[in-house]
Amino acid sequence: MFATLSDRLADTFKNLRGKGRLSEADIDATAREIRIALLEADVALPVVKEFVGAVKERARSEEVSQALNPAQQIVKIVNEELVTILGGETRRLRYAKTGPTVIMLAGLQGAGKTTLAAKLALWLKEQGKTPILVAADLQRPNAVNQLQVNGGRVGVPVFAPEPGNGVGDPVSVARASIEEAKRKLHDVVIIDTAGRLGVDTELMKQAADIRDAVQPDEVLFVVDAMIGQDAVNTAQAFLDGVGYDAVVLTKLDGDARGGAALSIASVTGKPVMFASNGEKMTDFDLFHPDRMASRILDMGDMLTLIEQAEKAFDADQTSKAAEKLLSGKGDFTLEDFMEQMKQLRKLGSMTKIMGMLPGMGQYRDQLENFDEREIDRIQAIISSMTPAERQNPKIIDGSRRARIAKGSGTKVNDVNQLVDRFFEARKMMQQMAKGGMPGMPGMPGL
Ligand code: GDP
Repeated sequence: MFATLSDRLADTFKNLRGKGRLSEADIDATAREIRIALLEADVALPVVKEFVGAVKERARSEEVSQALNPAQQIVKIVNEELVTILGGETRRLRYAKTGPTVIMLAGLQGAGKTTLAAKLALWLKEQGKTPILVAADLQRPNAVNQLQVNGGRVGVPVFAPEPGNGVGDPVSVARASIEEAKRKLHDVVIIDTAGRLGVDTELMKQAADIRDAVQPDEVLFVVDAMIGQDAVNTAQAFLDGVGYDAVVLTKLDGDARGGAALSIASVTGKPVMFASNGEKMTDFDLFHPDRMASRILDMGDMLTLIEQAEKAFDADQTSKAAEKLLSGKGDFTLEDFMEQMKQLRKLGSMTKIMGMLPGMGQYRDQLENFDEREIDRIQAIISSMTPAERQNPKIIDGSRRARIAKGSGTKVNDVNQLVDRFFEARKMMQQMAKGGMPGMPGMPGL
């Protein structure tokens, strides 16, 4: 998502590069290009107008004319205005002061509510909470079962009407779930409600009835970011019909143009609280407007990357490998190499990781063609080596290479390549250990 918008904005800024002073014509042209870029990304027209107006006004002010680097100042302004339309500060969950915190999910069928309920439960569990999931979606035949399956995946209990009692009443189920939570000392209750394929009054009424019955601390409106402008219309309809405190965007991993994500907070006046970006239960996090803006501007998203890396990497393993590397003694072995591959894999798909690094936008095509199977191949090859070979790859001669290739189902050439690459990497690392880290890539574009 946002790839085209990122590219277009980068082109716009490229045209300003090196200009010591910006003329009125420069500012007009830039504003026009930003406007087109946003409209093409499917951002709602009123939001585009407001955004471009604000950028233009600030571009004409002293803030830019007095800046040492006016072009860079424009990027900074666009970044700040993006943060503003995305909702400003990160909106965090508000917990109840007494009793369980009740979170109710509302949205259309297929928005990703049931999946999201489980993701949210896992996220809360990781923070030491003891959530319970509630199946109040009794419309869709399979919804209760789906929630139970998802709850099982994340190890969170599901409260659902007893089977065999016919179709239960979602309002009583929701009400009963709060009692259950109190009894069993669950501190967060996540209520999944029914969705329809389109906005309809009966659906709204049911959601409003559940809301009135359980008085949630947070009502979250869940919306599929892939449905473009419709997301904004649906958001408005739910705001009028049910009301909610914050928005959850799902399917941000899709390749839609992203305009919905950019418009929804401005149009509804409600912040985006969470974002869901994949089918895995861990593809979910708080939505940070500032990080999203810098990702759109391809300034990377180092904070998210660092946080994910911290979560994924086994600190002990990593520091052991780092120690070996930095000691420069050359005892970094293929075992360590494989361990690092495994750690890397935990970070999720390579493409996702790389997308968060600054300045990677220009490599997007290569990244998208990145073959994750390459890591599998490397792991297979190393697994087929004896411990002695992994410790001391120098002993891997021709006949050993043939054996390893056979054992790993690869070609001798693959083994050769891996061994060569390992030695090259080790040499480079030793040089780095002596001479310090190579410079970080600079800011893109300017
Ligand atoms: P509900 O009808 O609102 O409960 O929606 P579901 O939770 O059943 O989700 C509908 C479909 O969207 C399912 O196939 C999910 O696997 C998929 N889905 C949900 N969230 C995401 C996401 O963030 N990314 C992707 N790619 N798919 C998702």
